[in-house]
Amino acid sequence: MAGEHLYTFYENEIRRIKDDDTYRFLKTLEVRDGKYATYMGGRLINLSSNDYLGLATDRDLIKSFYGTMDESNMVDSFGPGSTSSRLLTGNHSLYSDLEGLLGSLYSGIAGGAKREALVFASGYHANAGIFSAIAGEGDLILSDSLNHASIIDGIRLSRARRETYPHLDYGRLEEILREMRGGYDKVIIATESVFSMDGDAADLKKLVELKNAYNVMLFVDEAHAAGVFGEKGLGMCEVQGAAGDIDILMATFGKALGSQGAWVVTHPVIKDFLVNRARTLIFSTALPPVVLSWNKFVLERMHAFRPLRERLLMLAARFRDSVIQAGLLSTGSTHIIPIITGDNSRTVRVSAELQERGFLLFPIRPPTVPKGTSRIRVSLTAGIEWEDIEKIPSIIRGIE
Ligand code: PMP
Repeated sequence: MAGEHLYTFYENEIRRIKDDDTYRFLKTLEVRDGKYATYMGGRLINLSSNDYLGLATDRDLIKSFYGTMDESNMVDSFGPGSTSSRLLTGNHSLYSDLEGLLGSLYSGIAGGAKREALVFASGYHANAGIFSAIAGEGDLILSDSLNHASIIDGIRLSRARRETYPHLDYGRLEEILREMRGGYDKVIIATESVFSMDGDAADLKKLVELKNAYNVMLFVDEAHAAGVFGEKGLGMCEVQGAAGDIDILMATFGKALGSQGAWVVTHPVIKDFLVNRARTLIFSTALPPVVLSWNKFVLERMHAFRPLRERLLMLAARFRDSVIQAGLLSTGSTHIIPIITGDNSRTVRVSAELQERGFLLFPIRPPTVPKGTSRIRVSLTAGIEWEDIEKIPSIIRGIE
């Protein structure tokens, strides 16, 4: 057929990706039922979900959410479409309710610092929009080497200079600050608080100390911490008492809050600036009413999910210990437990065997993680019991 040669490059690339054992394909999950998911005909324990509190599949919670729907609020509170960008007609009053609620929750732990919230359509939109807006050519962004792709892409879009510091190596970060701070007007330190593929946590107090000492801004992505950490569920900033010192805090509704979207908590001036300059906010359709209503519904109950958080973190500590005791390689201290298997083809074999044995786990390979550190990422959720997962370390040990 005419023009087929146009695709030869891509066919060759796909072949190369397959040879490298890093081929990806879209997996179809059929039924999600609490801690279980049906995949390829089997009902497996879902250990690959970011629904950390189990809210996205909590039938009682979902029923009580939709229980308030009637003819009068069907469109404005439960409608599927917002019809346009927030800057045009998509900025429903639910946005101000949600941002007001977020602002007051974070102001409650910010020690008097002025804080306001801004909601984006997703975490990817937020990170791409924030960095490309707040930094530009001639600025410097210091980024943890394991930061998420959305942070990296935001920095690329900004055209600022990016210096990567080794993961959690704040000694090296300080050296870079000492060497380079003087040469730039705007400097921003960018980190996740809980790292998505390693399950370890940033030392926010140390970062605040550096930020103050060198007079730079601090950005923290709490995507994997919000909902899971803190008495109120507000994340690592709550646990480490850093909420009032982080210049730009970002977190997502797509993980522990069980839906879609992201929020940014920041100084009112930065919020105002983002509304004017964040292209991903300006040029993309606003979230639908139903999602905004759910986000508010869940946030209002966040403090009440404390027993779920405590249960999840206890289970995680026990499982991580058992992985290490079995002689397997792991890192971190949170509900995300990586089991480093190293080589791509072994990782693919291990995950296939684990699926065979009833666990929904996928191989995590480059470029998601650095070369040579392929892994099985066990992502625990609050409904999982110890008996569901206790055999995993010995199964992995038994695989060549
Ligand atoms: N930041 C981090 C650390 C993430 O892990 C993710 C999602 N994997 C995002 C941002 C993007 O969030 P979203 O899925 O809402 O686009």
